[in-house]
Amino acid sequence: MLLNKKPKLFSHISGQIICGFLLIIMCLMAISFIAFERLSVFQSNAEYNESTSVPSFDQLSSLKLHVTRLSSFGRDLIRSDSLAQLRISNNSIQLLIKRIRLELSLMSDQESADELRSLLLVLEPGLNQLYEKRSTVLQLESQITQKISTILDYFEKNQIDSGAQSLEEFYAWNHLTYNISRSVFDLIVKKRKFEIKTAESNLLFSLGQLNDLKLESNSSELLFINAAIEGPLGLISMLEMRSDIRFQLISISTQNSIISDSILNYVALLFNETKEGLSDQALQLVTDASNAQVRLNIIIVISLVIILLIYAGLKYQVFDRIGLLRKLLASGSLSSQQLMQFRDQNEVGEVADQLRRFLIKIEEQQSTITTVSKQLADVIQHSNLRVAVLTNESIVYHNEYFAEVFSLSKIDSIKDLAEEFHQVKYNEVMLKEDGESSVLIESYYDEKYHRWFDLIGSPITWENQKSLLLNLIDVTERQHTAARYEKSLSVVEDEAFRDSLTGLFNRKKFDRITVDLSYNKSDTEFAVLVFDIDFFKDYNDMLGHLEGDEALRKVANELLSVTPENGLCLRYGGEEFVVVLFDVTEKEVSIVANNALRIMSDRLWPHPSKQCDFLSFSIGGALSSESSFDFIKCFDLADKRLFLAKSNGRNQFAFKSNTD
Ligand code: GH3
Ligand code: MG
Ligand code: MG
Repeated sequence: MLLNKKPKLFSHISGQIICGFLLIIMCLMAISFIAFERLSVFQSNAEYNESTSVPSFDQLSSLKLHVTRLSSFGRDLIRSDSLAQLRISNNSIQLLIKRIRLELSLMSDQESADELRSLLLVLEPGLNQLYEKRSTVLQLESQITQKISTILDYFEKNQIDSGAQSLEEFYAWNHLTYNISRSVFDLIVKKRKFEIKTAESNLLFSLGQLNDLKLESNSSELLFINAAIEGPLGLISMLEMRSDIRFQLISISTQNSIISDSILNYVALLFNETKEGLSDQALQLVTDASNAQVRLNIIIVISLVIILLIYAGLKYQVFDRIGLLRKLLASGSLSSQQLMQFRDQNEVGEVADQLRRFLIKIEEQQSTITTVSKQLADVIQHSNLRVAVLTNESIVYHNEYFAEVFSLSKIDSIKDLAEEFHQVKYNEVMLKEDGESSVLIESYYDEKYHRWFDLIGSPITWENQKSLLLNLIDVTERQHTAARYEKSLSVVEDEAFRDSLTGLFNRKKFDRITVDLSYNKSDTEFAVLVFDIDFFKDYNDMLGHLEGDEALRKVANELLSVTPENGLCLRYGGEEFVVVLFDVTEKEVSIVANNALRIMSDRLWPHPSKQCDFLSFSIGGALSSESSFDFIKCFDLADKRLFLAKSNGRNQFAFKSNTD
């Protein structure tokens, strides 16, 4: 059978759920692993960059600035117009060089640091030379200025001194002064070599003219001026020296600027390389991060797909199937055939299979119940049983024989039954538990058919409700038999309580009355009269026992005749009789006793004894109220009063009033 096949691996829903969750956990672990791994990469990159690239970048940036400033200070050296300014620039240069050296010693890239250090070693002497040369130039320029002022002072003085000379000489002197001044200024101002040469030759020419003019007047001054202009430390040699140094300055400055540029370019190159390195690393980080993001997204999507698949699987295999099963159960028409469609190799399939097996069992049991019910219904229908089922006040079932008793074809309510059934407390019987013994609810006499029925009630459950099975049992025959039995029993019983001689009740009856009255004590007055025939021994002895018996019979008849309906007359024993009167007064008791005495005296039955002429008896009487309503005590009191009557002369009645 398909449903009983061993389920495939993971066919159980619980197994699938566990697998699904394991997959999700694995995905989460992968996500965590990748996330942590990427984070550690980012962290190591960041730490590396922090310890290497970024500081280098800062150092290089600072180095670049310092080298630029060094180059600028180098230019300042050339431009300086005073020695003080020159010294300031030189000091700044020395400080900068120290700082650059310090930064180079701190650089992580030692190869580049060595390269830069060697360039700085070349630059430093150049800068020193520049300082020295410029310092020399400034000193020279100061000396040149002094020389020029000396020369110009000379000419100015001589011009004033020669005021007394001729106009021609004055003119020639002024012209010469002009030419010399101009040549000196040209020497100082002109930059081009041929212009300086022209100015020099002009000055020398003018000096030749000066010699011509002043030779006679002051030769020592003239020699001094010539020496100031042409001598070894003269203006011209100084100018030449300055020109040479300036030329050297240009050369050194050019060399320095080339070296500075090299350093600057090298630093810029390093700076750019570091910058590019950082950019590459940042780009790499961005790429790594985006890759990690993509991987995480893929894993998250896979997890979501797995969750969706699990949900879809659960929905198809569990929720939908359970929903269908519930609908079938709710429809109330679930059959084992319908459950055949639940062939799922999982828990739902197992439940459906178990349910199907239960249904098959139930269907089999239902079929058995139907058969048995039909058989039972047939038996009830065709038997003499008269049954009905009562739920609340409605007769929910009855067979034909039950209705027949009430001359009806259909009974719906207890109101349809005979009237004596209407007030019966069916609920009290119903309250008993199922299976408890049946209870006789009512006895019913059918006047039409002259039959007796007992209505027996048994608590049962009918259609899940507490109900009462009513069973009408025809007890007519039993009733008749019982009546007959009772009748014969009373005859036997009566005979047993009768005295065979007199036909009165006997001593046994007296004992029964004793027992009955001791059990059923009441305040109702009763009385006991005790009779004893006078001198009866003599009667017997003289006339014989047969006559004696006859006398007893006659006396008994008379006593019976005076006993009222509410009394009992019995022979206590021998020639003693007892009359018990129920519900009587004292007066009535006296009447009965006196009637008895009177009737005996009326009869005039002869007595053979010498002590009396006719048969008579003495009577003792007592009331129950005198003896606490105790029968024996009452009898005892009456007996004692009988003795009193005997003692007082017999043939008399001793009672309460005449004994007190
Ligand atoms: P008293 O007036 O004092 O009663 O004198 P009594 O002779 O009647 O005295 P007692 O009661 O002693 O005598 C009762 C006699 O009754 C004794 C007995 O011979 C007689 N007797 C008792 N039972 C029967 C009976 O069944 N038949 C006959 N014939 N005589 C009986
Ligand atoms: Mg006696
Ligand atoms: Mg007697």
